[in-house]
Amino acid sequence: MDICEQSPTYIRAIAPYEPGKPISELAREYGLDERSIIKLASNENPLGFSPRAREAIERELAEVPRYPDGNAFALKAALSKRFGKPMASIVVGNGSNDLLELVASAFLAPGRASVFSQHAFAVYPLATQARGARSIVVPAKNFGHDLPAMLAAITPETRVVFIANPNNPTGTFVDAGDMEAFLGKVPGDIVVVVDEAYTDYLPPERRYDCARWLDTHRNLVVTRTFSKVYGLAGLRVGFALCDPGVADLLNRVRQPFNVNSLALAAATAALEDREFVERSFQMNREGMLQLERGFDALGLEYIPSCGNFISVRIPRAGGDGKPQAGAVFERLLRLGVIVRPVAGYQMPDHLRVTVGLPQENEGLLGALRKILKD
Ligand SMILES: *Cc1c(COP(=O)(O)O)cnc(C)c1O
Repeated sequence: MDICEQSPTYIRAIAPYEPGKPISELAREYGLDERSIIKLASNENPLGFSPRAREAIERELAEVPRYPDGNAFALKAALSKRFGKPMASIVVGNGSNDLLELVASAFLAPGRASVFSQHAFAVYPLATQARGARSIVVPAKNFGHDLPAMLAAITPETRVVFIANPNNPTGTFVDAGDMEAFLGKVPGDIVVVVDEAYTDYLPPERRYDCARWLDTHRNLVVTRTFSKVYGLAGLRVGFALCDPGVADLLNRVRQPFNVNSLALAAATAALEDREFVERSFQMNREGMLQLERGFDALGLEYIPSCGNFISVRIPRAGGDGKPQAGAVFERLLRLGVIVRPVAGYQMPDHLRVTVGLPQENEGLLGALRKILKD
């Protein structure tokens, strides 16, 4: 018998995550100059990262031979101060992806299920499947989460509900009132993960303090990341705010040293650089307007987004009516522009574009113009 067949069927059924194409790979494949390539594929921060984080990394380099602080004391202390929550209710992860996996490890197993929306972040089905649990996928409404339908989809086997707010790749957002009402209705013995990876990009009037709800909802787990507005995607660091009892469970299933020392130092410093975050927010807002205006001028529809990315609809070809997004993605690659196809999210007509620097956005729009008007 083949050794691979010894792996549980639910592991063998995992469909691998498809990451954005790296710049180096595209340069190799098409013989392009790396410096001329525009990558708007992975919702990274086009401004880079905080100089304070860079200094912290340089200071921390000398400590590389030592194991990191497995309790992440300094980062948790800074987060505790920022969010007004005890350190016992904070869990750090190797990216917030790690925290999603930890929740799945702690609460899912064969015979159990998670609930999430159609078009939701790809890690939810992966984390669920890897525990042999079942994914209950609820049809989206106007590309967004249909919370009443998600509530109705909860079964006796359900232990976790995943909600990305804003959601990736749709950029849709559930307002505070609806979220609070939902939390009030979900049975208290089901974990609700609110994944707030893009929360810093919300317009001020739509922001809400999810952490406030932790006092009344012990089943709530809020996840945040340093990968997006803080620009530390390559270092892998994120955190969860939750009930101390839940935090204790997540800490039991995590690796003892899941976040490396450079990431811990950088995140702690980055958290204090409010100016960098503000600048990133402003640049994103302007870039989003630039892209929206550009898409309007090209007659392209898009899903209004609350994140640092936007999904634009590529019209189908006249005759056979087949989706063209894949072909446009390929042609963009040849022009040195990397965006993200989202057919794997049941959005075969859309391409997800990360908001870049003004000249990068212009580069993408120019390339699209060329392709669509040919
Ligand atoms: C990017 C993203 C994350 C963050 O991933 P990291 O592991 O922290 O880099 C989490 N959730 C969603 C919805 C995302 O798009």
